[in-house]
Amino acid sequence: MSPPGRPKGEFRSAQHEGFPMTSIDHTHDPALMSWVASANAADTDFPVQNLPFGRFQRTGSDAAWRIGVAIGDQVLDLQQAAAQPGWGTDVPPLLVPLAAGDLNAFMAMGGAARRALRQALSQALAAGAPQQAALAPCLVAQSGVEMGLPCRIGDYTDFYVGIHHATAVGKIFRPDNPLLPNYKWVPIGYHGRASSVVPSGTPIRRPRGQTAPAAGATTPGFGPSQRLDLELELGYFIGAGNALGMPIAIDDADDQVFGVALFNDWSARDLQAWEYQPLGPFLGKSFASSVSPWLVTLEALAPFRAPFTRPDGDPQPLPYLDSAANRAAGALDIQLQVLLQTAAMREAGLPPTLVSTSSAAQAAYWTPGQLVAHHTVNGCNLRPGDLLGSGTLSGPTPAQAGSLLELSQGGKQPITLPNGEQRTFLQDGDTLVLAGHCSRPGARRIGFGSCAGTVLPAL
Ligand code: MN
Repeated sequence: MSPPGRPKGEFRSAQHEGFPMTSIDHTHDPALMSWVASANAADTDFPVQNLPFGRFQRTGSDAAWRIGVAIGDQVLDLQQAAAQPGWGTDVPPLLVPLAAGDLNAFMAMGGAARRALRQALSQALAAGAPQQAALAPCLVAQSGVEMGLPCRIGDYTDFYVGIHHATAVGKIFRPDNPLLPNYKWVPIGYHGRASSVVPSGTPIRRPRGQTAPAAGATTPGFGPSQRLDLELELGYFIGAGNALGMPIAIDDADDQVFGVALFNDWSARDLQAWEYQPLGPFLGKSFASSVSPWLVTLEALAPFRAPFTRPDGDPQPLPYLDSAANRAAGALDIQLQVLLQTAAMREAGLPPTLVSTSSAAQAAYWTPGQLVAHHTVNGCNLRPGDLLGSGTLSGPTPAQAGSLLELSQGGKQPITLPNGEQRTFLQDGDTLVLAGHCSRPGARRIGFGSCAGTVLPAL
């Protein structure tokens, strides 16, 4: 346990010598404990070193939605917490939008506000904190709340940074030419649909639509998608954003990312295959995207940054996508998991089974900062709460695939589950769960919670 009054900035990580030291401070000290006992459990996703933001409502309550911070198996209700004494003079203005339930307004305050509040929350929730007596009644059990979307998502952009995914999928459609020549120069993306981004737990209705004409047929098919798939992604949520016409430079880009969540960008592969040329993804993508409830801030992720590297022989990025800081620590080292529970498994009392594991650092060809710099280089404005999907984060081996399209080799090779059931694509009643965490020697493990959705039959 960290002694009270430990000087700020004392904690140093040998592995991160040479990285910007402002990013690692006493809030990341692995020895720091909380007076919330469940936050000290070794396997919790939400120790005092994490402190992610989410939007919740007490189950069965008519009270307005609140912003809270996850701590162990509890949520600190920031409306109630803001009314308590002990915050000093600088913190109460930061708590005003949060107490009002408006995470977007806090996101708009930018990185300095985010860091100042993190310091205050870390102090307030640390073991021995003088605020314990005042804040203990502001806790509510996570088991007693419903989680919504963390913020208003004005715009959603979906990128395609998973080079192993892009190559594997490209091979299915273009065996002789899997990766198009722009891929290693341009972070590929398209503008998605924000209205159908839903919080974890929301059921996913199987979409209907057109499919390519069957062999010998002269008209397209129409009906429920037969190739419903998941996409294992990260969601990057934008902080303050930029004015129209004013690009964000790569060295300012990380500060513009408020936080990271798990993101399942559901895909109807058969609809997508028929519709996607020449303008790109449309109804095969826009029926739903699920996001996990807790936004893990870039500050919480500071101990888990990793170098941005390119394989030998690959081009280095153009100057506007390149910087010393991005090369040293632009990537995120996040371990990802895909789990599946079929209806038959659920009825038999079997838990979700692991179907894939991946690593964001291995999978991503571009860093979050590069996505922000690229998105805004033409002057496009990002606004607080905007969402950037990473693209499917498949690792280099087939077992690390972030989609069933890859795991089943285009639907040709079913995967077999522990109870003997087989899957090429998702069936009605299947529950898909994404999970993620960060760990490394010398740092406290932090996690992202989970992002779940169950497939409902088509209308
Ligand atoms: Mn996607």
